[in-house]
Amino acid sequence: MKNEPKKYASWRQDMVEKQIVRRGINDPLVLQAMRKVPRHLFVSEALVDSAYGDFPLPIGEGQTISQPFIIAQMTQCLELKGHERVLEIGTGSGYQAAVLAQMVYKVYSIERNNTLFLQTRKLFDKLRYHNIVTRYSDGTQGWQQEAPFDAIIVTAGGQKIPTPLIEQLAVGGKLVMPVGDHFSQELIRLEKTLDGIKPTNLGGCRFVKLIGQHGWES
Ligand code: SAH
Repeated sequence: MKNEPKKYASWRQDMVEKQIVRRGINDPLVLQAMRKVPRHLFVSEALVDSAYGDFPLPIGEGQTISQPFIIAQMTQCLELKGHERVLEIGTGSGYQAAVLAQMVYKVYSIERNNTLFLQTRKLFDKLRYHNIVTRYSDGTQGWQQEAPFDAIIVTAGGQKIPTPLIEQLAVGGKLVMPVGDHFSQELIRLEKTLDGIKPTNLGGCRFVKLIGQHGWES
């Protein structure tokens, strides 16, 4: 980022080294993207100085931006190379989408909360993330017109992975989502192959609720 106060650049490099590299994330594309995206611009003004901390933060409307390490872990498990079209469910602050946009060809991001949808669309335009397209709708139904996607990332938790999302994943594609009940969830990664769906459990996590037709009731 040009013209940003030096402290943010230095906090961001520290964040990547101490919270991400040291905990074993080694995909160069992920590290490069997280060294670049100005996380402090995705939180409210009162929280800018906490933006590079090792924790999630509130983003308004009862929602949260995940801890940097969780973002890194979810992004790395998609094994992106650069040419992909990626679907994100739960735009929220826009930080996760911005990290992806730095790495791939195009990001499709859906948000169901209108306030967050409008606010974050404005931010993407201001920061010139021109390869992020956004949509205001129920993401549990996916984005049929743009399917199939090379990767899908769901940044809110549900009891099961919505069937439309599995259908809209390309063969060879990967999907990651927190799956569980109100209290605890596990990060599940699916790989779609010609022989079927292969799940992997990446460990415990805690996310806000995925609300919609194939998620929790509002
Ligand atoms: N990726 C976001 C995380 C935001 S928290 C970030 O980087 O900040 C999860 C978001 O998912 C919330 O904004 C919430 O409103 C949204 N959400 C919940 N259910 C949804 C659904 N069915 N479709 C789209 N967005 C949903």
